[in-house]
Amino acid sequence: MRNVVIIGSGCAGNTAAIYTARANLKPLVIAGHEAGGQLSLTTLVENYPGFPEGIYGPELVDNMKKQAEHFGAEYMHGSVIDTDFSQRPFRINIEGEWVETRTVIIASGASARWLGLPNEKKLIGKGVSSCATCDGFFYKGKKIMVVGGGDSAMEEANFLTRFGEVTLVHRRDHFRASKIMLDRANHNPNIRFLTNTVVEDVHDVDKQLVSSVLLRNVATGATSVEAVDGLFVAIGHIPNTAVFKGQIETDADGYIISKGGAKTNIAGIFHAGDVQDRVYRQAVTAAGAGCMAAIEVERYLESEGH
Ligand code: NAP
Repeated sequence: MRNVVIIGSGCAGNTAAIYTARANLKPLVIAGHEAGGQLSLTTLVENYPGFPEGIYGPELVDNMKKQAEHFGAEYMHGSVIDTDFSQRPFRINIEGEWVETRTVIIASGASARWLGLPNEKKLIGKGVSSCATCDGFFYKGKKIMVVGGGDSAMEEANFLTRFGEVTLVHRRDHFRASKIMLDRANHNPNIRFLTNTVVEDVHDVDKQLVSSVLLRNVATGATSVEAVDGLFVAIGHIPNTAVFKGQIETDADGYIISKGGAKTNIAGIFHAGDVQDRVYRQAVTAAGAGCMAAIEVERYLESEGH
């Protein structure tokens, strides 16, 4: 029987592991299908406090894991495929192996939705990004392309005009974005709109950087190549909550609904990070949320007499 199982090994999960391990609760961390979370997909992180020269995302998240292990956290590879939160102890199935636990911290994150282009995955972190706040700075004076027609795409496009000329590509000529966000982008002279257009592929894998994209106009079928230095995909995120469906309360998009602090609708099960946060989504806010969840676990176990 475990005191606490932490589902997810990104910033939120690792921070929760550091705190619960230091509280001598011997946490078990389930690494998940994207071990290390979103940080493992980025390059240099310049806005995480404490690193004046910046630190590489994978190194930062690996340091957190080492720090947690140093205090006795255990890591298990694999993904959660089933859960039973209907009774105590809670039960979690990790690829066939059931684990029982008094408390759970859900830090399973939200995965960026990608376009599925042939070369896209090979260039993530090398010119292809899903986070303007994280990577915009690297494109000072460069040609930037943003894909998407929702609020995220408008927000990222606006933000990225601080660094360079932005072209926003959207597959329709109507936008899902709210009026205010769309107006702001429309009034920004440094954003060019390309509607009814899809990105078919991104190059150059050989050089390990982004140099151009292949575009197709869906109305005419015409294709063209455009020189681009950074491709920001802003077509939404998918919170990793499918496995908790029907047990943990989520909103229509699958994000956990917080019941205050780090609480979910089930006492003893807590949330941390992007699985609940659709607004801030930063490494430092996820780390803070992991700390909050850990403190709530400690208090909960204490109140239950453990
Ligand atoms: P979203 O509203 O779901 O929009 C996703 C956009 O990506 C849509 O325009 C969609 O096109 C496009 N898209 C999806 N799959 C695509 C594909 N395979 N190829 C090309 N385009 C694709 O997602 P979001 O913009 O991330 O926003 C999510 C939620 O967060 C929303 O509720 C939003 O209001 C909120 N949010 C708010 C703010 C803010 O208020 N500051 C900022 C960011 C996000 P279609 O329109 O054709 O489907």
